[in-house]
Amino acid sequence: MQRPELLAPAGNLDKLYSAAHFGADAIYVGLKKFSMRSFAGNFSLEELLVGTDYLHKLGKKIYVTVNVLPFDDEYPELKKTLGELGDIGVDAVIISDPGLLSLMPKNVETHLSTQCSVTNAAAANFWFSQGISQIVLARELSLERLKTVASGAKGRLEIFIHGAVCIAWSGRCLLSLYSVGRDPRRGECAQPCRWPYRLAIEEEKNPTKMRFLEEDGRGSYFFDADDLCLLPFLPELLPLNIASYKIEGRTRSTYYVGIISDVYNYAINLLLSGQNALFAAEMPRMLKELHTASKRELSSHFVGHEENLLSSYHLDGSRVGGDQLTAGRITGFRGRHIEVRITNTFVVGDELELCQPGLKRKRFIVNEIKNEEGFDINRAQGGHLVLLPMINGAELYDLIRKPLE
Ligand code: SF4
Repeated sequence: MQRPELLAPAGNLDKLYSAAHFGADAIYVGLKKFSMRSFAGNFSLEELLVGTDYLHKLGKKIYVTVNVLPFDDEYPELKKTLGELGDIGVDAVIISDPGLLSLMPKNVETHLSTQCSVTNAAAANFWFSQGISQIVLARELSLERLKTVASGAKGRLEIFIHGAVCIAWSGRCLLSLYSVGRDPRRGECAQPCRWPYRLAIEEEKNPTKMRFLEEDGRGSYFFDADDLCLLPFLPELLPLNIASYKIEGRTRSTYYVGIISDVYNYAINLLLSGQNALFAAEMPRMLKELHTASKRELSSHFVGHEENLLSSYHLDGSRVGGDQLTAGRITGFRGRHIEVRITNTFVVGDELELCQPGLKRKRFIVNEIKNEEGFDINRAQGGHLVLLPMINGAELYDLIRKPLE
């Protein structure tokens, strides 16, 4: 079995550093324009240059999504943008519009987006014959169908292994355009499938009296699918020799990309080194880690539940994800202190946990906090930079969080 590339998302440079630190082999990012996540923060060309240099020095790759469905009048600007990506030297551009193939710089690979819904080996081989180097398969494939595509395809395939999914064929949905005028084909989806809705019953004889049906105190989430999680399926997926495993979530936090990359990297390494028993024994801990970064329940969707997709929609409301656990991340060192960029408040006396690659976790008590100027403070507030006493073995980009129960 070959090691699949672990491909993580990054909406900005901090997330890129976090994903790389926690084991991603390649990172995909979007530009401020022409990417399917227009609201993900995204990269300027200057930031892209910084990120590309950083990843290449580590022997890792960077891919840029340019997977909108463009119109004729946008082609001149797209041609210029693709040329700039070639000059920067990114490793690949992910497209969904076949017209862009003619504009691709020679030094950059072209990958095909999941928006193209490739569901069979013949379609995959057609795209390979057109110059596509890697194909992101449709997310709507069962394990058996993944096997037949993988055995018949004559090129590199990529699958999503974790993250949010659409309730339509990926990205092919106009709900957001009709609801709020934001077009999913332009990377502007407001994700109304994840919103709470209220179902009202009106009494015919008393129209002023409305009754609302709600799943729980936070409302009703009728269309909100669970997040995809293929961690338990890795033993079946790895023998298929699919080249790349993709994590969804360019709008998600630095904590999310770090923890999700860490868990999958750890799990893949266990299985590739033949430690299947340890993989099974570690499953509860790994799933617990994934849940700390997930806003929804986790499901294997089409891979595990094709015959009963309803089981991938929890019917008891959405839930708040674990990002509230995050206390911060290490952004540097100053003498005998570490610099920590704070996400959520903590105070002197709290117990925190250092998260390091390889699922290493180390608890410690906060016995001192200094502000940026070096003065003692009692409380670290979200968004601020503070200094904490050195933690033995701490590294740049390690995460700090409130301990799991
Ligand atoms: S509204 Fe939901 S299903 Fe539709 S494109 Fe957006 S995320 Fe996908």
